[in-house]
Amino acid sequence: MMINARTVPANETVETEVCIIGAGPAGITLAREFIGRDFRVCLLEKWWR
Ligand SMILES: Cc1cc2nc3c(=O)[nH]c(=O)nc-3n(C[C@H](O)[C@H](O)[C@H](O)COP(=O)(O)OP(=O)(O)OC[C@H]3O[C@@H](n4cnc5c(N)ncnc54)[C@H](O)[C@@H]3O)c2cc1C
Repeated sequence: MMINARTVPANETVETEVCIIGAGPAGITLAREFIGRDFRVCLLEKWWR
C-alpha cells in the first residue's frame, strides 16, 4: 500500500516492525529484501509527486 502521509490524521499512529527512512537505492533494496516476510515494513520517503 502506498499513501501520502499528508492524508494521515495528525494523531494517528502508524504501527510497523521495521521503518526504513528514505526510498533511495539503499532503502528500496532493503525494502525489497523484506518482501514476503511475516512482519510489517514501512518505507518513508519525503518526496511525493
Ligand atoms: C549529481 C549526482 C550524480 C550521481 N550519478 C550517479 C551515477 O551516474 N551512477 C551511480 O551509480 N551513482 C550516482 N550517484 C550516486 C548515487 O546517487 C548515490 O550513491 C545513491 O543515490 C545513494 O543511495 P542512498 O539510498 O544511500 O541515498 P539517496 O539516494 O540519497 O536516498 C535517500 C532517500 O532518502 C530520502 N530522505 C532523506 N531524508 C529523509 C527524511 N527525513 N524522511 C524521509 N525521506 C528522507 C531522500 O529523499 C532520498 O530519496 C550520483 C549522485 C549525485 C549527487
